[in-house]
Amino acid sequence: MTSPLFEDTRLQDLHQALLDAYGPPAERVCWSPLRQLVYSMLSSRTKTETSHEVLYALEKHFVSWEQVRDAAVADILSVIAPVTFADKKAPALQKALRRITRQNGGKLSLDFLHGHSVERIRRWLESFEGVGAKTSASVVNFSTIRGRAIAVDSHHDRIAKRLHLVPRSVIPDETERRLLAMAPAWWTPAMLDEHHSLVKLHGQLRCTKNDFEKNCAGCPLLKMCPTGEEVTAGTARRSRERSA
Ligand code: SF4
Repeated sequence: MTSPLFEDTRLQDLHQALLDAYGPPAERVCWSPLRQLVYSMLSSRTKTETSHEVLYALEKHFVSWEQVRDAAVADILSVIAPVTFADKKAPALQKALRRITRQNGGKLSLDFLHGHSVERIRRWLESFEGVGAKTSASVVNFSTIRGRAIAVDSHHDRIAKRLHLVPRSVIPDETERRLLAMAPAWWTPAMLDEHHSLVKLHGQLRCTKNDFEKNCAGCPLLKMCPTGEEVTAGTARRSRERSA
């Protein structure tokens, strides 16, 4: 058996630094795969709080997923209007609910996914309109399926690139593949979820999309971050030039 060239502990170091900085995130209450799919389809490019509010409003208004499936699309649209691209998401959601019912012998549930391989589940989910790798990863990792996946959103993708864990040129699907290969085999699906939550939080609070440079000097990841080192070296150089 060949041993690895070197032990890559970068994700473990990153995880520990984020845990030290922010503490452990609240433990997730895992939803059914169907509820998670609906939420994840609604939530792309939408703030987490808005996505939650819309999910609860949908459940309150329609009582069952069957009612959501069978309602007039305009009624769905009126409830989910606060999410981004609601006009595309409403018909895509109903199409998905209809197809699940059809392919599951008339029953609107995704509970049959339990026990299937992660690869098979993701391939199937990603054949639905409006379901990409992030959504399929969310269903697999966050729901009661609790499989190995990382729901790489824009925060996670951006930070992995700023930390040079993956090249800037790769798409988020490839970022996920590389991060999963880097994650220790002993990390459980719940730990992968915790890791994602911590990275996302860091992206929301400090390593933001724009104007993040002002946060680098005090960042808990600075020692392991080439981007942060460049930013702080540039700031120090400019300050020396000004005082020369
Ligand atoms: S040092 Fe700067 S670029 Fe690096 S993770 Fe922290 S905030 Fe982001």
